[in-house]
Amino acid sequence: MTLSPDTNRFHDIAGRLTLPSNAFIDGAYVPARSGRVFETLNPATSAVLGTVAHGDAADVDLAVAAARRSFKEGAWSRCAPEHRKDVLLRLAQLVRDHAEELAVLESIDSGKTITDCLAEIGEHVPTFFQWYGELADKSFGKVAPTGEDALALILKEPAGVVGLVLPWNFPLLMAAWKLAPALASGCSTVVKPAEQTPLSSLRLAELAMEAGLPAGVLNVVPGFGETAGQAIGRHMDIDVVSFTGSTEVGALFLRYASESNLKPVGLEMGGKSPLVILDDAVIDDHLVTNAVNAACWNGGQNCSANMRQIVHASLKDEFLQAVVEKVATFKVGDPLDPETQMGSMVTDEHLRRVSRYVETGKSEGARVAYADEKVRPDGFFLNPTVFDGVTRNMTIAREEIFGPVLGVIDVADNAEALDVALDTPYGLHASVFTRDMDKAMHFARRLPCGTVSINCFSEGDVKTPFGGYKQSGSLARDNGVEAMDQYVQTKTVWVYLRPM
Ligand code: NAD
Repeated sequence: MTLSPDTNRFHDIAGRLTLPSNAFIDGAYVPARSGRVFETLNPATSAVLGTVAHGDAADVDLAVAAARRSFKEGAWSRCAPEHRKDVLLRLAQLVRDHAEELAVLESIDSGKTITDCLAEIGEHVPTFFQWYGELADKSFGKVAPTGEDALALILKEPAGVVGLVLPWNFPLLMAAWKLAPALASGCSTVVKPAEQTPLSSLRLAELAMEAGLPAGVLNVVPGFGETAGQAIGRHMDIDVVSFTGSTEVGALFLRYASESNLKPVGLEMGGKSPLVILDDAVIDDHLVTNAVNAACWNGGQNCSANMRQIVHASLKDEFLQAVVEKVATFKVGDPLDPETQMGSMVTDEHLRRVSRYVETGKSEGARVAYADEKVRPDGFFLNPTVFDGVTRNMTIAREEIFGPVLGVIDVADNAEALDVALDTPYGLHASVFTRDMDKAMHFARRLPCGTVSINCFSEGDVKTPFGGYKQSGSLARDNGVEAMDQYVQTKTVWVYLRPM
């Protein structure tokens, strides 16, 4: 096989990378206290990339102690906000300067395409550090109205030591979503990346030190959920946890908090998001491209994936044909090839889980409109599947699949479309396609979910809050000014003023 010059270049970079292998605690890479390590794989080749410190409760203790010490010393928590801004802007620039290296590292650790990794790490991750850095010295408290004998100040203070527990599907982007507002607020942090994708967060911690972050403010403990993750959830000296991952594990974090120090827990969890095509929509290339991306972007390993595509019966055949034609051109393969649109699934176990859902769909009576069962033995690859004739009670219409599966549910009218869209315990995202803005806005208001995109599939951007209703989230939001709320405490200072 002949590789394109860029593909060769990215493979060369991959071959030359020095992979981080230790935890990052108190400003330095350190092995796990137990001396144990775990392997991290390249899911596109199933080869072992290297080993990483297997952090557990003892390492979380060390990281929390470093974070607490730094928080108390105040070099970050009590510094002038302009200083926090300068450091975060430098970090944004360092990420840009190292974008190719970080993107290749992310791609080989996760199976994500280099194109997506370059966009996430070259553009979005630095944008987050820049935007929240800029916000650091533009976030004001308030003065409450009082009589002349008092002055009432409402202050926002950094919440303290925060634990950030991350998923594997957008490893560095999710780290940035949480770290940027937490650091801008003045918190000290203990990050636990997902065990499948620990490398990019570890490298980021080193860049943050280079940018001028004091030691102890950003600690990264790689490890598994039941050990390192649980230790963060139950830690008596962590003030706040912000978690992104499955609804099942999010529920555990509520339990950990209730059984330890009652720390507030921000939850961003799973979804089963609908994409609704109303009777007046135009089935053009824009709509079809968005619909396919809504289901298959990042191999469908996306919390806001619009797997349930609810289509007015009058448009169903035209839509399905166009979707199948588009999916059939999808290039699945080497993630380091810039032409590739879908890399590999993150692990063999996840590949099998998604494949089981495809089999369940068939056995429950959904019709396969597109499938390509070609198997690539070299990694954990899975081609997209399109189902027709999905009904609202099928397992594939109810449970989060987290893989490249698109299911078409046809409905008789717009009222039924809304009814089916609402029929889920999740509430993260929805897309609505229509030419009628009145209908679009009625749908947007009636859908209980954190983000509704109209005539496109979009999660918004750094400026817009992202999070879930129902079992997709808590009241916490990532992104936007709202994300800062997760990482600050509100204090009232009531001053008595002697009469003149
Ligand atoms: P996961 O819940 O299995 O793991 C998430 C994190 O929790 C990992 O760091 C993991 O090690 C840790 N963890 C696992 N078990 C734990 C336990 N018993 N105690 C403490 N920590 C534990 O999720 P995942 O498979 O990494 O990610 C996929 C899920 O994340 C999907 O459900 C997806 O929808 C969701 N997600 C949500 C958003 C969002 O913003 N709402 C974004 C991305 C992913």
